[in-house]
Amino acid sequence: MLYYSTKNRNHKVSFKEAVLNSLAPDGGLYMPEHIDSFPQNFFQDINNRSFQENSYEVAKQLIGDNVPNNELKHIVEETINFPAPLVYLDEYTASLELWHGESLAFKDFGARFMSRVMSYYLRGENKEHIVLVATSGDTGGAVAAGFYNTPGIKVVILYPSGKVSDIQEKQLTTWGNNIIALEIDGNFDDCQRMVKQAFTDKDLKEKHNMASANSINIARLIPQTFYYFEAYRQVTNKNLPITISVPSGNFGNLTAGLMSKKMGLPVQRFIAATNANNVVPKYLQSGVFSPKQTIPTISNAMDVGLPSNFERIMDMYGSTWNKITTDIFGFWLNDEDNHKAMLQCYDKYNYITDPHGAIAYQSLKTTLTPSTRIFLETAHPCKFLPVINDKIRSQIQLPEQIINIQDKKKESKQISSNVQIFKQFLLDTL
Ligand SMILES: *Cc1c(COP(=O)(O)O)cnc(C)c1O
Repeated sequence: MLYYSTKNRNHKVSFKEAVLNSLAPDGGLYMPEHIDSFPQNFFQDINNRSFQENSYEVAKQLIGDNVPNNELKHIVEETINFPAPLVYLDEYTASLELWHGESLAFKDFGARFMSRVMSYYLRGENKEHIVLVATSGDTGGAVAAGFYNTPGIKVVILYPSGKVSDIQEKQLTTWGNNIIALEIDGNFDDCQRMVKQAFTDKDLKEKHNMASANSINIARLIPQTFYYFEAYRQVTNKNLPITISVPSGNFGNLTAGLMSKKMGLPVQRFIAATNANNVVPKYLQSGVFSPKQTIPTISNAMDVGLPSNFERIMDMYGSTWNKITTDIFGFWLNDEDNHKAMLQCYDKYNYITDPHGAIAYQSLKTTLTPSTRIFLETAHPCKFLPVINDKIRSQIQLPEQIINIQDKKKESKQISSNVQIFKQFLLDTL
């Protein structure tokens, strides 16, 4: 299996190159050269295999012989060390809880898989790798947890000072060892700009191998297909049509869902659910794609004005609007209606959604029953306490992962958003 660049299908590389480079030299994103459908009996037997066993089959379908079977099996087993339960709220409506991992967000799947793939490829190399990641909250926590203690890799996380929740900050700054947290005097865009410039800096490139752990990396995307199969495995009535709604920002999660459908997973339709950063729902409505300045919202992990993985979706559908709109519906909510959605779900089902999953929950009202309607619950609500209504907030129980870090001391280095200072820090300290 090779991987081509979305900007040039003739440019193909191995899995190793795709993972270690993240982006193709022409700026395109890597895609598997073919995504084959499983035979019918794969789905008939799906309940006879565990989450890990199904995930291994899916991984093999997308990675082929790039990684030896026994290694791949090991990587998958280490990735899936927590469940993804499908919780039915009523006969037709269910929440796929993707937050049972260490950092309490679905990004744990991608980060755990990517760290293990990288360390497989770097085994025996003596030059240390630096993973740089800019975060508005969730990505950094998952990457820190996923890469903690990975031999040969140091992680540098840049996060905007005062702009992540207390719990998120603990998840970024209490690791130590190979995880370094930089608290940037600026906003998320500053963090992203600093990381981008570091990647193109000659002096830094000479001294370090640098990799990006953000969601454009194919190694983060592939493991996100696993839980769509796991959702289907848990569907109780497999005769009904299935709709899955995906809270979306950079659209990696939805891309993985569409790849699963291409592998034959019987999902009738996906919903691209966003906040006011609604360029994709608008495109699905009108056929016109016009990126916008990012608007800050209470579902801040989806505050993306120019979603990077949309390029992969266009690529999968040959940029044909008619085809895209048969598989994907668009939906979006402003903050006020998002608050209402969280309250409605709580009042109706006594179920607490986070401000990302809540939009997906609400979007299911646009689908017809009888059908199975699944929304992805992408993070635990405790990560977003400050924006959750008082009435619900008091009912949120902190999971064990948070209780464990609550009393740990924050360790971060505060620096300005000046790129030169950042560069000097990387040259001097690492
Ligand atoms: C990252 C994130 C999203 C957005 O996922 P994409 O793959 O970027 O579309 C949604 N919800 C939560 C909680 C997240 O952390």
